[in-house]
Amino acid sequence: MIPYQSLKEVTARHSHAIHEAINRVVDSGWYLLGEENKHFEEHYASYIGSKYCIDCSNGLEALTLIYRAYIEMGIMKAGDEVIVPANTYIASILAITANGLIPILVEPTWENLEIDDSLIEKAITERTRSILIVHLYGRCAYTNKIAELCEKYNLKLVEDNAQAHGCCNNAGHRTGSIGDAAGHSFYPGKNLGALGDAGTVTTNDELLANTIRVLANYGSQLKYIFQYEGKNSRMDEIQAAVLDAKLQYLDEDNHRRSEIAASYYESIENPLITLPREIPSKQNVYHIFPIFCRYRDELQTYLHKQGIGTMIHYPIPPYRQECYVNQPWNINSDKFPITDRIHREELSIPISPCLTENEVWTIIEAINGFQIETTLR
Ligand SMILES: *Cc1c(COP(=O)(O)O)cnc(C)c1O
Repeated sequence: MIPYQSLKEVTARHSHAIHEAINRVVDSGWYLLGEENKHFEEHYASYIGSKYCIDCSNGLEALTLIYRAYIEMGIMKAGDEVIVPANTYIASILAITANGLIPILVEPTWENLEIDDSLIEKAITERTRSILIVHLYGRCAYTNKIAELCEKYNLKLVEDNAQAHGCCNNAGHRTGSIGDAAGHSFYPGKNLGALGDAGTVTTNDELLANTIRVLANYGSQLKYIFQYEGKNSRMDEIQAAVLDAKLQYLDEDNHRRSEIAASYYESIENPLITLPREIPSKQNVYHIFPIFCRYRDELQTYLHKQGIGTMIHYPIPPYRQECYVNQPWNINSDKFPITDRIHREELSIPISPCLTENEVWTIIEAINGFQIETTLR
């Protein structure tokens, strides 16, 4: 059996360094807001190319804190609008609605799977304050046009970099350093994963960084003095130590992912299956390798029988989720046929850096052998 992803294998490769990091924290007697967070923040900020990095409890919290801080700073207020791709993971949208902001959903393109920048300007109103781009599947969603629109309409460009650690834009800048602020998730399955929940914010904006740091620690800068109605959004020292130990292997892992992807692009040939458009390898860190098929469910069952684990990212788009169907901003929203098609046809095949060459070939051959009864077509 080739699992979709084995976190046990991912961790085992660096088990010595990880155990050493954990033991260091255990023995130190210091478990929150200490040296480990400080070191990881420094190293990750310099890796991304941002001035500030503020550790927090998870990726959703990172994104939520960015918008909360903009509200506290008087830059946004409840009822303001944020443009966001309709086909994102729900966390991007939760970060908006959790702050009383209104998500304005925009279709992706079928070719790139990222927000269609030709549709953004039409979606801008006098209440628009921000565009949240999502580097979904590890593909860079940034375009010069998006930056121009942010400039023209004075909008904050926020990046959801949960799936794209190490990715670069067309100018060679790391995603997470391109916009005004970025939220990163270190959920265990992400390219850089913790052994539990963790996330961080990167930004070059000093005031934003300070506001987030205070909000994430009960709204308090001085002990027992509460400036904001804050939250507890801290990252454990143990997770920071683990992430710091794993950060040095991130580029290697991303490189291995891109080699596997190159084999897929070269050798998957099946008229029933579409691969996403290939983009320059620096602009994709292949967090997920999505393939598309009208007979997606049959393909998944078939691959399972061949001993290949797959996943669906994601089965139901956010705008069709129960929690959002009756929201006023959603009731009159346009239909999203491309988003629907992506959710209907997407299947994620294994892309773990732990895959062997043999396993990659087994996957390719199985996919190429997929057929559908002519009566079904
Ligand atoms: C994983 C993910 C998040 C949220 O991260 P958590 O750490 O699980 O809260 C946000 N956005 C996207 C696109 C993600 O894939």
